[in-house]
Amino acid sequence: MASNQQALRALPSVETLAKTLSAENPLPRAMITAFVQREISRFRRDILAGESPTRQEIETDIGKQLSIFSSSRLQPVINATGVIIHTNLGRSPLGSQAAEALTKIATGYCNLEFNLTEGNRGKRAGYLEVALASILETEAATAVNNCAAALVIMLRHLCKDEKNEVIVSRGELVEIGGGFRIPEILETSGAKLVEVGATNKTHLEDYAKAITAQTAMILKVHRSNFYIGGFTDDPSILELAELAHSHGLPLIEDIGSGALMNTDELAPIDHEPKPQDSLKNGVDLVCFSGDKLLGGPQSGIIAGKTALIEGIKKEPFFRAVRCDKLILTVLQECIDTYLETKSSNTTSKVPALDFIGKDISSLRQRAEAIIEHIPSNIRDQFAVSETTARTGGGTMPKSEIPSLAISIAPKHVSVNQLASRFRTGSPAVVGTVVDNTLHLDLRTVFEQQDQALGDAIIQALAN
Ligand SMILES: *Cc1c(COP(=O)(O)O)cnc(C)c1O
Repeated sequence: MASNQQALRALPSVETLAKTLSAENPLPRAMITAFVQREISRFRRDILAGESPTRQEIETDIGKQLSIFSSSRLQPVINATGVIIHTNLGRSPLGSQAAEALTKIATGYCNLEFNLTEGNRGKRAGYLEVALASILETEAATAVNNCAAALVIMLRHLCKDEKNEVIVSRGELVEIGGGFRIPEILETSGAKLVEVGATNKTHLEDYAKAITAQTAMILKVHRSNFYIGGFTDDPSILELAELAHSHGLPLIEDIGSGALMNTDELAPIDHEPKPQDSLKNGVDLVCFSGDKLLGGPQSGIIAGKTALIEGIKKEPFFRAVRCDKLILTVLQECIDTYLETKSSNTTSKVPALDFIGKDISSLRQRAEAIIEHIPSNIRDQFAVSETTARTGGGTMPKSEIPSLAISIAPKHVSVNQLASRFRTGSPAVVGTVVDNTLHLDLRTVFEQQDQALGDAIIQALAN
């Protein structure tokens, strides 16, 4: 106990340490104080448990923890990975139109659930639902928190009591990402998974044979983040829809990425299925993410038959997954942008699509211009190299887009140290380490970030 008392004296004063640390950290002073307090309590517990760190060790560690804490704060990042829809870097960036609309709605009142024509209570997301149904050329649509929530609520609505079997091909039991697997989603939704076929081949008869009085639906899941090649077979949507409907069952499709236009016209990449085509071919409901190829905010869009959409919206659970006014604003703006982009045949307004379509020569020019500004004494560590960009985020797994990077083979630090300097710099820059080279792929860097990227390069290589 006595040694505990002595060890406790090593604990620094919260105020003094917070003051020292705040000299080099931009976080609000009160935040730093609260954080230091928390860390000191942690050390106090350790000491009472028998440890005896010195004051120096405590102060150094708290300083380190503070800088880790500080860099975990959400902040802009220059994405130099070449992965366009990068789930860890916030998926699709919004266009400026959506961002401006967001500011206006966020800082004032709006007609979220108010009918301006009648002067009484109005329908939430009324505009968005009609707009979505119109561009998807289907009866009805709605939006929820994300595509996973869309899938859960569709399953909850359609699987009731005894009639809860969901038929899925074994080739489509995918893990969506972050350990989120289709079989587990089915389970949490009260559905009973009925697997059919083999990993590489599922025939129409496999589905037909699995239909029983307990079948609730046939579910198709787009293999959005992996690819099965070679000896493969799947029935067409048309055939599956015919089979489902002949048994009075709905055919549901989780399409994941949801390209509303032919993204393969922008770059030499695989065709990504469009929700419109699935609906046209007889799928009763589709769902897809709003922040993948649509280029919008995190959301999940459900579209298809009116009776099903209305039923879903009446589920008590719908309330738990509905979108807030900020998301609805951004989604509605994204759809307008999308329509303008489509009609004008340009993609410049939807950043994700713009990145897919950028030609190599414009990237080369930018790379050369950035390198030109690098001091000549360090320029021999730089090169322009050909890389492979990807759409990412659970889209077109096989799709590789030829791209270009500024590559750095550092002479005075290790490549991992260099990558870390870029990540923790201001602005943070995330690249890719390949062998002993750091690649900064320009396909996913906004042109207006080139200057900042150039400055970050000089800063990271200084000394
Ligand atoms: C990405 C994806 C999801 C999950 O979408 P979130 O919007 O992240 O919830 C679900 N299904 C498929 C097929 C996907 O590709």
